[in-house]
Amino acid sequence: SVIPDYLAEALGDVEPDTAGQLADYIPELAAADPERLGAVFATPDGEVYGAGDIDTEFTIQSISKPFAYALALADRDFGPVLAKVGVEPSGEAFNQISLESDTGRPFNPMINAGAITTHSLAGSEGMNPAERVERVVRGLSAFAGRPLRIDEAVCVSEMEHAHRNLAIAYMLRGYGILTEDPRAVVEGYIRQCSVLVTARDLAMMAATLANRGVNPLSGERVVREPVVRQVLSVMSTCGMYDAAGDWATQVGIPAKSGVAGGLIGALPGQIGIATFSPRLDAHGNSVRGVSLFERFSSDMGLHVMEVP
Ligand code: GLU
Repeated sequence: SVIPDYLAEALGDVEPDTAGQLADYIPELAAADPERLGAVFATPDGEVYGAGDIDTEFTIQSISKPFAYALALADRDFGPVLAKVGVEPSGEAFNQISLESDTGRPFNPMINAGAITTHSLAGSEGMNPAERVERVVRGLSAFAGRPLRIDEAVCVSEMEHAHRNLAIAYMLRGYGILTEDPRAVVEGYIRQCSVLVTARDLAMMAATLANRGVNPLSGERVVREPVVRQVLSVMSTCGMYDAAGDWATQVGIPAKSGVAGGLIGALPGQIGIATFSPRLDAHGNSVRGVSLFERFSSDMGLHVMEVP
């Protein structure tokens, strides 16, 4: 097939670009190898094509957010989730301490306030924190099609510097959006962010969204179609931190990035894409990942606003 050659060529073109910085607010992430670079395409019928570092593990970080949102929607239904987390783009940085002024509701599930709340809504109401984390890790694993595990070192490292997320969670508790112990919810959210994945896993997770919620390799239905539609819609408006508008116009693929350097895109019925390159731009998005997606979108006409 020509696709692996195409991917290798695309990686070769962006490889010399060393712009950007490793995330260092979590000390353990600053220890990552900045030269890692990989890209994977996964189709709804189960074809997987990759080039570069596609089996290197790194933490999922914010790319867990759309999937945890899917699990909350699946476990609690739409009403209770929408009552606590909105779907409006905030145009703000991921860790902004901002909530809707009248209700205290986080603007959307992709900023931390919304993601911390979403974590608390995964699983059933009576679960304890450990059971909830287990539900989330199991759910992420079902999206990936293999059992995933948590990087304890990254988790501990982030928890030591989680003052801002703790502040957000206590504010959410004050508004009654969170009803549990804020510290336990933040800990669970950080465990969710510390799940280890590879670019191949992320492409399969994206392909599961592209394939109506059914994992193309395992055949497991992970979530229902209305959940997928909701998640992809929110990814398309809020998935790229405060660069979501630039992304929507230039790349036009529902996407989500994470501070460890992962980036996913999913196009319904067509493809799941993942890239991995740890150096980040000022918005917190992977520099070479964004370049690769711009190229994939224009070379293959993937922009959702273009006639295929
Ligand atoms: N664990 C990170 C945090 O909440 C996720 C950040 C990200 O990937 O944007 O700060």
